[in-house]
Amino acid sequence: MKGNIIGSEQQRLAVLSRYHILDTPPEPAFDDITRLAAHLCNAPVAVINFIDEERQWFKSEIGLGVRETPLDISICVHALLEQELLVVPDTRQDPRFASNPLVTGEPYLRFYAGALLRTPEGLPLGTLCVLDYLPRTLTEEQLALLQALARQVMRLLELGRINRQQAEMLSDLDQTREKLAVLAATDPLTGLANRRAFGTLLKQYHSRLQSRPEPATLLMIDIDYFKQLNDDYGHQVGDDALIHFARIARRMFRATDTVGRWGGEEFLVLLPRTDPGRALVVAERLRTTLADTPVNTPEPRPTITISIGLIGLDPELGLAAILKQLDQALYRAKEEGRNRTLVASSPQDPVNGAGVRTPI
Ligand code: GH3
Ligand code: MG
Ligand code: MG
Repeated sequence: MKGNIIGSEQQRLAVLSRYHILDTPPEPAFDDITRLAAHLCNAPVAVINFIDEERQWFKSEIGLGVRETPLDISICVHALLEQELLVVPDTRQDPRFASNPLVTGEPYLRFYAGALLRTPEGLPLGTLCVLDYLPRTLTEEQLALLQALARQVMRLLELGRINRQQAEMLSDLDQTREKLAVLAATDPLTGLANRRAFGTLLKQYHSRLQSRPEPATLLMIDIDYFKQLNDDYGHQVGDDALIHFARIARRMFRATDTVGRWGGEEFLVLLPRTDPGRALVVAERLRTTLADTPVNTPEPRPTITISIGLIGLDPELGLAAILKQLDQALYRAKEEGRNRTLVASSPQDPVNGAGVRTPI
C-alpha cells in the first residue's frame, strides 16, 4: 500500500510533520469533534487519524480503544486516494477490505465513512471517519456535516501551527534582543563591559549601596607608556596588548567583579563585597602578573605594566567625587614612576589621607 498512497508521499509526510500532531496527547477540542461525528452519524466508532509512514495514528478515537494501527490493515489509508470522501457500505462486499483482519475478525467492521483532512495546499493528511459493525449508509446531509467537521479538524491543526510559528518568532526576537543588549554593552575589542554599560552598573550599585551598605572597592587601571608601545610595535600589537590585559584581568577577578573598558587603555574594576585591603592584594597580583607575562603577539613580544588607583566605595560620597579621587590616585601613581598601585585619599578617612603606596 505504501508508496502508492499519493504521488508526493514524501512531501505529504513533510507537511504532516510541520503540524507536530503525531504522538501528542489527547486534546478536548479534537475529542469534541469525534463525539460530534459519532453522534451525528449514530456510529459506535469515530476516529481522527493521521497517516504516518508505517502506521495510522489516532489523535482522538471513540469505540476503538487503540491509539494506532499498522498501515497494512488500515481502511483510512484508502481514503487518501479519494477526492473528499470514502464510503464503504459493506466492507465484505468490497474487494479492498473483504479480507482485512479488522473485517474478518475482531472488531468485525462492516461500515466505513471517512472525510479527508486536507491541508490548505490540498495534501491529504488523514481522515475524520465513523465506523459501524453493521452494513449501512449515511444521508447526504450526514456526509456533508462529516466533511464540515473534517474542515474544523484542519482549522484546529492550522491554528496550532500558526500559534507555534508565532511563539517561535517571539522567542527568536527575544534571543536577538538579548544578543543586541549584550553587544550594546560589550567593548568589541576586549569583550569587557563598555563605558556605558559599566557606568550604568556603577550608578546602580552605588545607589544600592546607600540603602544597603557593604564594603566595596573601585579600581582605575591605566596601561603605562601605551602610546610608546603603539609607536614602537605598531597599532596591532597595541590591540593585542589590550586583549591580553582583558584576558588576564578576567582570570584574576571573581565572577561577581566587573571589569569595564573606560577609555582607550584605561579600565575600571568594581569589586562588590570587597574591602580596599583585600582589593589591594588582587590589584597587586594583576599588576605583577602583567609585568611578568609577555603580550600574546608575534615576536618580539613586549610586556606591559599598569598603574592603578584604588578607592573604597563610600556611599556618602557622590560618584563624581569618587571618580575624581580615583583619578587623582591614578595620576599620582603615574607621577611617582608608574607600575604601582595607589590607594586614594579620602576626606572621610584621614588615616589614608596621604595615599598608600605599594612596594614595586
Ligand atoms: P601613560 O603611561 O602616562 O599612561 O602614557 P600612555 O602613553 O599610556 O598614555 P597616552 O594617553 O599618552 O596614550 C594612550 C594611547 O593609547 C594613545 C592612543 O593612541 C592609544 N590607544 C587608545 N585606544 C587604543 C586602541 O584601541 N588600540 C591601540 N592600539 N591603541 C589605542
Ligand atoms: Mg596610559
Ligand atoms: Mg590613559
